[in-house]
Amino acid sequence: PRGDLHAEVVVLGAGPGGYTAAFRAADLGKKVILIERYPTLGGVCLNVGCIPSKALLHVARIITEAEEVENLGITFSKPKISLEKLDAWKKTVIHKLTKGLDTLAKQREVKILHGTGQFVSPHMLQVITESGSKSVSFDNCIIAAGSSVNRIPGLPYDDPRIIDSTGALKLEKIPKHLLVIGGGIIGLEMATVYAALGSKISIVEFMDQLIPGADADLIKPLYKRLKKRYEAIYLNTRVTNINAKKSGLTVSFEGENAADPQTYDSILMATGRHPNGFKIGAESIGIQIDDKGFIRVDNQLRTNFSHIFAIGDIAGNPMLAHKATYEGKLAAEVIAGHKVAFDARAIPSVAYTDPEIAWMGLTEREARQQGIDYEKVSFPWAASGRAISMARDEGLTQLIMDKKTRKILGAGIAGVNAGELIAETMLALEMGADMEDIGLTIHPHPTLSETVFFAAEIAEGTITDLF
Ligand code: FAD
Repeated sequence: PRGDLHAEVVVLGAGPGGYTAAFRAADLGKKVILIERYPTLGGVCLNVGCIPSKALLHVARIITEAEEVENLGITFSKPKISLEKLDAWKKTVIHKLTKGLDTLAKQREVKILHGTGQFVSPHMLQVITESGSKSVSFDNCIIAAGSSVNRIPGLPYDDPRIIDSTGALKLEKIPKHLLVIGGGIIGLEMATVYAALGSKISIVEFMDQLIPGADADLIKPLYKRLKKRYEAIYLNTRVTNINAKKSGLTVSFEGENAADPQTYDSILMATGRHPNGFKIGAESIGIQIDDKGFIRVDNQLRTNFSHIFAIGDIAGNPMLAHKATYEGKLAAEVIAGHKVAFDARAIPSVAYTDPEIAWMGLTEREARQQGIDYEKVSFPWAASGRAISMARDEGLTQLIMDKKTRKILGAGIAGVNAGELIAETMLALEMGADMEDIGLTIHPHPTLSETVFFAAEIAEGTITDLF
């Protein structure tokens, strides 16, 4: 049966995965409806994720650099911060991008339906809109409904001083003492912002290192710097209780490095995100979902229904925007009949901390666990002319290669702009480059990109041109 509306392709959720899928499907000639519950397109990434966080991190970097240039003989006075203006600028950034998406949708005649969708049958969604409920039928559906923040049960979330990343991005005030629960990427990025704005930061992490997904030696330069700048970093520690009093939030800890109870003005909960698999009625029509809430998909992003696809955060880890967009394109192409499948060799990860941490492909830990015959080379930025002249030589560039073929298997970079630098190693991996290929590619001097080239030269035993 046909619904009130019908499309060849219906996309549920307009985040990076959903809008990319919708636009690609439209470009391939499909009639597309894109369903989104919020007033703006762009999902978590554009509205309360990647983009606003990077806008604020840009400001944090300027403040920190202005402070540190004092060591080089230049003194600025203390910054005056207008949260109102800063917030307005952040909103302008978001607005430019989300408005851009509206235009791109219009150009392609992608119909946007604002409302909350639920599956009612394998060919129908019911969408609650402002003007009432509408049924939307489809030949194909792409689920791109994303993820939500995790909450540790039993903590007093109704207290406005306890915020998540969305609350932190609102910039309502700068707490004097901020506790960040969770030392992963999102927690550390927000800590970087608030530290620059003047908060004293403490971090508590349940695992034995910050950013547990990355290799331990890559995290060292970050840890060392944060240890100096932040009040406390508690590893192997968890929060057992928050006692919310008028005078502050008193937090109890448990674990190897547990401190006595401490009091903070504000707490940022950054303990990860979970997929929205169980929130869209998918289980009611028999779509397979794993116990974490990820919708199960094959390498063409099909669910157990061959005409229903799932992409992005809801379809598996890593929960990153560039994975969502890659999958969005792919699902649309599969629907259009292209013979394509997910065959990316790696998905890079970046923590936009200070210094940045970026990695891709195999980590050393994974190489060891998988019994791969690998070799690792490290180039310390203390030997990079560019890093030294930027007064930021704490970084590190590492390449992991197959010991026999010398082909690159993975890379990790810690340092200023590591997120930009990792792209070269991604290309090398996709192209099947070996250490000789990288070491024979002339890199501009003096740049941080040379650190990748120097690492390859170390692997080849040809390094002479240090600095
Ligand atoms: P989402 O962006 O979550 O979009 C899903 C959309 O579906 C939402 O708009 C939602 O409203 C809509 N929706 C859900 N259910 C329904 C329904 N029933 N009906 C209608 N609409 C619905 N990733 C990076 O790669 N780089 C970064 O720097 C980065 N920084 C981040 C910083 C923060 C603070 C956060 C929270 C996340 C960050 N991420 C980053 C992660 C990134 O935001 C996500 O991986 C990305 O947004 C996932 O895209 P998606 O399309 O799968 O889902």
